[in-house]
Amino acid sequence: MIISVEELEALEREALRLIETASSQEDLESIKIKFLGRKGKLTQILRGVKELPPEKRPIIGKRANEIKQKLEEELKKAFSAQVVFVEGAAALDVTLPGRRAHTFGTLHPITQVLQEICEIFLQMGFEIAEGPDVEFDYYNFEALNIPPHHPARDMQDTFYISNNVVLRTHTSSIQIRVMEKKSPPLRIIAPGAVYRCDVDIKHTPMFHQVEGLLVDKNVSFSQLKGILTAFMEAIFWKGIGVRFRPSFFPFTEPSAEMDIACVICGGKGCRICEYTGWLEILGCGMVHPAVFEKVGYDPETYTGFAFGLGVERIVMLKYGIDDIRLFFENDLRFLRQF
Ligand SMILES: [Zn+2]
Repeated sequence: MIISVEELEALEREALRLIETASSQEDLESIKIKFLGRKGKLTQILRGVKELPPEKRPIIGKRANEIKQKLEEELKKAFSAQVVFVEGAAALDVTLPGRRAHTFGTLHPITQVLQEICEIFLQMGFEIAEGPDVEFDYYNFEALNIPPHHPARDMQDTFYISNNVVLRTHTSSIQIRVMEKKSPPLRIIAPGAVYRCDVDIKHTPMFHQVEGLLVDKNVSFSQLKGILTAFMEAIFWKGIGVRFRPSFFPFTEPSAEMDIACVICGGKGCRICEYTGWLEILGCGMVHPAVFEKVGYDPETYTGFAFGLGVERIVMLKYGIDDIRLFFENDLRFLRQF
């Protein structure tokens, strides 16, 4: 049992020193218990005052009560200063830099690559155009020279809102809206979400597309090849192998599929490229004269090219992702890698 005032004050100093150097809420909690808890050092002294010789009781009792009050105050202050405790720091230091807010969110990989794609085309002088996700059949199909019997209009692929309103199946619908309002020359890209009734390892009902359109006098297929090759070199790397294969789209003539040398195996052949060494990357072609006629452009005066690329496809190839559904499952372990 401590009986002298000196010993009592040594106890106080010990407690104050501990409070001052505490670096966490838990530290403060254990100091509180050590001195002021039910079995705490100071509590026991206070409890033992009545056992002391009568002449010592008032002195020790008074001093012990003062110390108790002091410690309670100091602890209260230390607890409320908790916000400025930094690991390893002894006490409040107002000169410390502020703590960085934890930002767990980042841009979705698709958003990141979509921005990168837009940036490349903006540098080449293209402008961004937008249009509605819920679209008239006319803009999505008819004006793009997709006749009523074309398989792309099949209920299997298209989400119909009503007889003549659909969820756009491509952002090509935007090129019609732009051409209706503006005269050539035109150089636009139309990024956005598109919708098709399809789900498997390579397809999701909603995905993203960037459609490009360039219209002017004397536009040639070689210019189309030049622009798209420059784009592939910018988004993947310089010197990446490319090839164009004849294809068919109702709204372009001639049409082509563009392939790039497999980014996984470098062209040697692997599972991803199905051992061909090539990967399909986008569809393109010269704008069909029938499309120009729909929007009132003279196909004898103007020519143009259009292309459409899938954003998810590019993200998957850039990062070696083999299941498109990962993009939309919102698993943070996946998303935090980007
Ligand atoms: Zn390959």
